[in-house]
Amino acid sequence: MSEYRPSSPQAWTEPGAFEVAPGVHRIPLPLPNDGLRAVNVYVLPLGAEPADGCVLIDSGWALEEGRRQLEDSLGLLGYGLDDVKRFLVTHMHRDHYTLGIELQRLYGAKVGLGLGEQPNIERTMTANDAALVRLLPTWGAPHLGEIWATSIHVEERALALASYDYPDEWIPDGARLDAGKRTLTAIETPGHTRGHLVFLDSDASVMFTGDHVLPHITPSIGLEPARQESPLTNYLASLRLLLTHSDAVMLPAHGTPGGSVHARVHELLTHHDVRLAQTATAVRAGAGTPYDAARAIGWTRRETPFDDLNLYNQILAVGETWAHLVVLAERGQVVQSVDGAGLVTFEVPA
Ligand SMILES: [Zn+2]
Repeated sequence: MSEYRPSSPQAWTEPGAFEVAPGVHRIPLPLPNDGLRAVNVYVLPLGAEPADGCVLIDSGWALEEGRRQLEDSLGLLGYGLDDVKRFLVTHMHRDHYTLGIELQRLYGAKVGLGLGEQPNIERTMTANDAALVRLLPTWGAPHLGEIWATSIHVEERALALASYDYPDEWIPDGARLDAGKRTLTAIETPGHTRGHLVFLDSDASVMFTGDHVLPHITPSIGLEPARQESPLTNYLASLRLLLTHSDAVMLPAHGTPGGSVHARVHELLTHHDVRLAQTATAVRAGAGTPYDAARAIGWTRRETPFDDLNLYNQILAVGETWAHLVVLAERGQVVQSVDGAGLVTFEVPA
């Protein structure tokens, strides 16, 4: 148990169990081969003794290395893996959800997930194709879809699917959840995924923000099996929604904890205003498809050209641009058309 004193922006990924608010510990777990580097899970005690068990906010990715690090880090607090009685998971992405499913199978831990994630879990459990492979051609990037389809190893995909299962409870918006002496309120914040939840402890003024509000980066929007019609519209509304709740200390799933949720929400809203303006400019300059528009604007904080991004980030960038174009279309700044083959194009209104 040690106090959290980041020595560099990278330091948040260092293993351990760090007290981030009275009685709340943060355990970072590794994400190999992943740009996010690590995922934070948060430990809430159920009683005065470790034997009373604990609740975890998010669970990590079902990988050998992650499970071992969770076991070691919980050990620093006196818990074993079988002391985790319940997982409250912010959303269905594998780096948040799947280790919870593994511990559900091994020790009977209860896994709770947002009710709005039901279509995503249903589709994961029943579909045998990757949604992106169908979507990329409609965004003007069929070649990216082809590379993606052939680059996903069949066994790898089967393995990924095998790490999914249904949760024990579907948590509705506004649910009051007991975790020892605290009560958390689940707030549905669709956008990053359609059923993303944040958990607010208003007495302690802390919010577990999952991937909805992240300190160093802006989350991807709508990267999920059952796609939202306009994920960015939902995401922006979910950001504004948090401003209607009292401000709290941000405890994010990736990155350094701390700081005001409201302050970060304002920064994220400004970021998307800038991106919407840049995307509109690209369309005015003649970009028609989401792929064309994505190639016309810079990426990451360093304004990296699209062609310098790796395949996965190119795919994310095209999806992200599509999401911005749909918002511009809703606002009447661009007009959307879809041809017989499903190709979506945008132009400035006549
Ligand atoms: Zn995520």
